[in-house]
Amino acid sequence: MNTVGILVVGNEILDGVTLDTNTQWMINKLKPLNYIVAETITVRDDTTEIAKALNRMMDDGLGLIITTGGLGPTYDDMTLKGVAEAFSLPLAVNPEALAIVERQYRAFHRAGVVDSAEITEARRKMAAFPEGAEPLDNKAGGAPGVMLRREGALIVSLPGVPSELKWIFQNPLHPILTDASEGHYTERIINLSARDESMLAPLIDEANKLEPDVYIKSMVKSMVDNEKGHVIRLWISCHGDEMKEIQAKVNRVADFLVDLAENNLT
Ligand code: AMP
Ligand code: MG
Repeated sequence: MNTVGILVVGNEILDGVTLDTNTQWMINKLKPLNYIVAETITVRDDTTEIAKALNRMMDDGLGLIITTGGLGPTYDDMTLKGVAEAFSLPLAVNPEALAIVERQYRAFHRAGVVDSAEITEARRKMAAFPEGAEPLDNKAGGAPGVMLRREGALIVSLPGVPSELKWIFQNPLHPILTDASEGHYTERIINLSARDESMLAPLIDEANKLEPDVYIKSMVKSMVDNEKGHVIRLWISCHGDEMKEIQAKVNRVADFLVDLAENNLT
C-alpha cells in the first residue's frame, strides 16, 4: 500500500501564527493517487527534531515522506540539514539545484522583485542538498524542491509557502507520484436525513457487511440541508486494484444506505 507521512516544519505553525493548510491540501491531492496518509508530525525549526521525526517515519515503514517548510535562505530554514542528519549524508551544493536558484533570481531581478541577481551565500544555501538528492524545479519561488530515495522510501522536501508547494507538487512531483503509486481510490459523500447518529449506527453495520472493503465514516456534526432538514453526512470510500470495481462497491453501499435510511429513519 502507498503509505505516506507528512512532516510539517515550522515554529510559525506551533506558535499559532500560521495555520497548516499545506497538509490538508496535499492529502486531498494524494488521495486520488491512492496514497494513504498514515501520520503527520509537526516539529519546530530544529535540526535534531526534524531528523528524529524522519527517523521515526522511516521506522514506521512509510513509502513516501513529504516535508513542508524550512527550505528558504534564512538561518532558521533547517529542513535539509535535518534530512542530511537523519540519513547521515553530507550537504553539498547540487549544480542542477544551483542552476534553478540562479534562473529564479535572474527572473526576480528582471521583474524588479529583488535588487540583484547575485548568488549570495544565503541564496546558495537553497542549493545545498543532502548527497544523492535531486532537485524538483520551482518556478513559483527561489527554493527548489528536494527528492531523495533511501531504503525503499521516497523523501520529498517542499517549501512552506503554499503557492510554491503547490507549484512543485502539481508540476514536477505529480507525474513521479503517479508512476510510483499502485491501485486506485474513490470516494462519495452522501447526506442522509437523520438527526441522531446513534440511529444510523446499525444501518452502517449492515452496509459494512454488504461490502466489507468499503469504509463508511459518518460526520459527527449534523448539518441542516435546505431541502432535507437535518442531515448527517456520510463519507464512503474504497481502495482497490480496479477503478470500475471500487466505484461499483461505493455506489452499492451509497444506494443501500439511502434506501435503508428512507425506510427506517424518516
Ligand atoms: P518556511 O518555508 O517554513 O519559512 O515558510 C514560509 C511561509 O510559508 C511561512 O511564513 C508561512 O506563512 C507559510 N507556511 C509555512 N508552512 C506552512 C504550512 N504548513 N501551511 C501553510 N502555510 C505555511
Ligand atoms: Mg519556516
